[in-house]
Amino acid sequence: MRFAADRMLGKLAKWLRILGYDTLYSRSLATDEFLGLANEGRILLSRNTRLVGKAAPDRLIFVEANDPKVQVRSVVRLLGLEPDPDKFFSRCTACNGLLDPAEPQDVIERVPDHIWARHNSFSECKACGKVYWEGSHIERSRLEIQRLLEE
Ligand SMILES: [Zn+2]
Repeated sequence: MRFAADRMLGKLAKWLRILGYDTLYSRSLATDEFLGLANEGRILLSRNTRLVGKAAPDRLIFVEANDPKVQVRSVVRLLGLEPDPDKFFSRCTACNGLLDPAEPQDVIERVPDHIWARHNSFSECKACGKVYWEGSHIERSRLEIQRLLEE
């Protein structure tokens, strides 16, 4: 399942990426471009009431909640998603790119010294080069993600 989130849903997009879902998000996308993403097989997520009816009902989800966590839960429930823990943290929260494992030596220039000294396991975004390590992706643990989904 792939998504595109409108400009008001940046945090929801981030969460979906954390869960491993391919989620496009751009603040500069025009409405027509956004709607066109449905034709590329993406489910559109929007808070814009004006878009309701402009895409096939099974292609557009109008997100009512304000709280990003409630938004995530409602999308997961509505679509009957079963997020795969093996895919958690597999995408860059900044750009949606896929992450690859990286050698500590290769990322030394891109992480703070104290982080580099304390961690052995790094990954980097193949698209934008952003470096991640355990605990950097978000301040939340896998356990908290599970809890979020179960609430
Ligand atoms: Zn990236």
